[in-house]
Amino acid sequence: MDEFDLIQRYFHRPLNSSQCVLGVGDDAALIQPTTGKILAVSADTLLEGRHFFADVEPYKLGWKALAVNLSDMAAMGATPKWFTLCLTLPRINETWLSAFSDGLYSAANLYGVALVGGDTTSGPLSISIQILGEVAPKAILRRDGAKAGDDIWLSGATGAAAMAVAHRKGLLVLRDEDLAHACDRLDLPLPRVELGIALGKLANAAIDISDGLVADVGHIASRSGVQARVWFDQIPLPAFSSAALVLPQCHDACLGGGDDYELCFTASPNQRAAIAALAAEIGVPLTRIGEMTAGSGVEILNAEGHPLTSLPQGFNHFS
Ligand code: ADP
Ligand code: MG
Repeated sequence: MDEFDLIQRYFHRPLNSSQCVLGVGDDAALIQPTTGKILAVSADTLLEGRHFFADVEPYKLGWKALAVNLSDMAAMGATPKWFTLCLTLPRINETWLSAFSDGLYSAANLYGVALVGGDTTSGPLSISIQILGEVAPKAILRRDGAKAGDDIWLSGATGAAAMAVAHRKGLLVLRDEDLAHACDRLDLPLPRVELGIALGKLANAAIDISDGLVADVGHIASRSGVQARVWFDQIPLPAFSSAALVLPQCHDACLGGGDDYELCFTASPNQRAAIAALAAEIGVPLTRIGEMTAGSGVEILNAEGHPLTSLPQGFNHFS
């Protein structure tokens, strides 16, 4: 099997996008964007040893490689539509490729995005995806739109993915049922695409939680020129049966753990009822965890209203 057989066999399934005029097989893909929509473009790379453990199941890797990109579309309020895959493989392993491509296409089909092209090279394992989405100009969610007085909201809960990493590194021990939940959150994240699209009408700013809640809400604060004030005891904890057993780590993971791909967004208090209705409609818990105020940075207040003095730092490749 050579490079071209490999592409043909694993990355050339029937196109599921009527707007893709030409997909895999030519020098470039051709796409017909929707008139009046803005294109949202983003890319994310996954590297062995850095973003995943060497022994991760290839199905899950394929899923996650696309899921993290879908999450960026969600955070912009965009509908994900097309993606390219740049794959570097140390060798051709068909069992691995078959499972990887199944995981990738499962996510692609669930979220309705089309693989339209890419590049295939040999070298240390690396998976890089570029994604394109569309958003109406009025529905764009940016990091810099938050206003003093906005509520801060969080979808679902953060921390479980980081707890799975900690368990795998031997830093703590989760019960079997909790471990299964945490590993699903880490390996098979469900990007909040439907939520992001719906928030276009309701939210002022949004970000997806990939580096940790404190770090990511901090990005909204700095880009918007306001302060994020978060109430620690309002932050939902991951759904662990044994949360109490590992509470200190659990709290750290909630605030600083990356890889959950939840959405954090801000909205005017006038939108509270609409946001509660949206949560019920799409079946995603949405929790009000704080408020934007005049100032800068992130403040996490404990139940007595005192700011926590030491906050976890978010993930940063070069720090
Ligand atoms: P070129 O030589 O023009 O760079 P390639 O030989 O790299 O073209 O790729 C041939 C075709 O296969 C192109 O349409 C490209 O987009 C597609 N392709 C290559 N690698 C992948 C991949 N991993 N997944 C999807 N499509 C791919
Ligand atoms: Mg090429």
